[in-house]
Amino acid sequence: MSESIKVIQWGLGAMGSGMARLIGRKDGIQIVAAFDQDPQKIGKNLGVFLGGEKTGVVIETPPVLDDPDDSDGAWKVKGDIVILATSSFTRDVAPQIEAAVRQGMNVISIAEEMSYPYAQEPELAKRLDRVAKEHGVSILGTGINPGFVLDTLILALTGPCLEVKKIKASRINDLSPFGPTVMHTQGVGTSVAEFESGLAKGDIVGHVGFQESINLIAKALGWKLDRIAEERSPIISKVRRETPYVKVEPGQVAGCRHTAIGYVEGEPRIELIHPQQVLPQLEGVETGDYIEIHGEPDINLVLKPEIPGGLGTMAMVVNMIPQVLAARPGLLSMAELPVPTALMGDVSEILKWRKGDQ
Ligand code: NAD
Repeated sequence: MSESIKVIQWGLGAMGSGMARLIGRKDGIQIVAAFDQDPQKIGKNLGVFLGGEKTGVVIETPPVLDDPDDSDGAWKVKGDIVILATSSFTRDVAPQIEAAVRQGMNVISIAEEMSYPYAQEPELAKRLDRVAKEHGVSILGTGINPGFVLDTLILALTGPCLEVKKIKASRINDLSPFGPTVMHTQGVGTSVAEFESGLAKGDIVGHVGFQESINLIAKALGWKLDRIAEERSPIISKVRRETPYVKVEPGQVAGCRHTAIGYVEGEPRIELIHPQQVLPQLEGVETGDYIEIHGEPDINLVLKPEIPGGLGTMAMVVNMIPQVLAARPGLLSMAELPVPTALMGDVSEILKWRKGDQ
């Protein structure tokens, strides 16, 4: 029997809590520490906070980031890997990632921009890659999207193609499982005027991840991107909608219709369409994931309903842990790692196999 994999969970919102619960269900892996900045969560027993039995882990304040010597002792418990579920943007999470890496720990982040940070933050990406290599650990950004549906799955479907001329894909999904951070970045529950001014100010951004997914697809296929054109508009609700995190009255915004097109040599080669809203079924909208690869041969994938976003994110992160622990050091993307697979047995034994120990 191999030693259990030790995980530090950083961020216990809608996604982080789900990941911690999922790890609790698996063999050969355990949470050894948990951080959140919310005073309502700090000091609570993790097991009880997650709705289960008391465990030996108490939720703590996150480590001080500019304290590389750890003089406050926040890193008193070391993990093999830190799971970061706090924010969407590389600029926000890079200091958290670097702090964990400097402690010799691998990191998986669900920050959308971290799925391919070279797209929008090349300097920070290069720095994270360098620091990870210096410390012999790996960093991965993943999730359901970006991380799987509109990038990894698309790339996998190009595997049996002799040529690819164009990719068109759409994800019509339900935002209900996500927490306040996502409701805010999507403008859910705002008036149309607030949505438009939020877009102009950059507080409301729609889907975070098109730049990353399109750049990653192009990089992996060997296409040189000229530019990416994006469009965003509000999805205005005709009915009242309510989730644990947001209320939307008729006439308010239920989500953001966001599209992006990546151009290669002047031609639109990667077209991604992602209208995201809470409870689309209340207006008869069915969820689904659709991928068309136009090439030799054409490949057409239809998934109805959508791969669920909340569960999918939790699973992608936990399922990628062995791949990340067995990977070469550095900042990695989903396109550079083996295919994601579910973990149905002892995770420490799966890791041993991934490291080449039969
Ligand atoms: P949430 O708002 O429910 O939870 C965020 C949690 O992080 C909260 O508990 C908050 O207190 C904590 N937090 C924030 N900053 C922190 C910090 N500096 N230190 C410690 N704790 C901190 O959000 P969520 O639905 O769990 O999503 C988390 C993030 O992940 C969001 O930015 C979201 O956009 C992103 N996300 C990405 C994907 C993907 O597919 N890549 C999927 C889902 C969510």
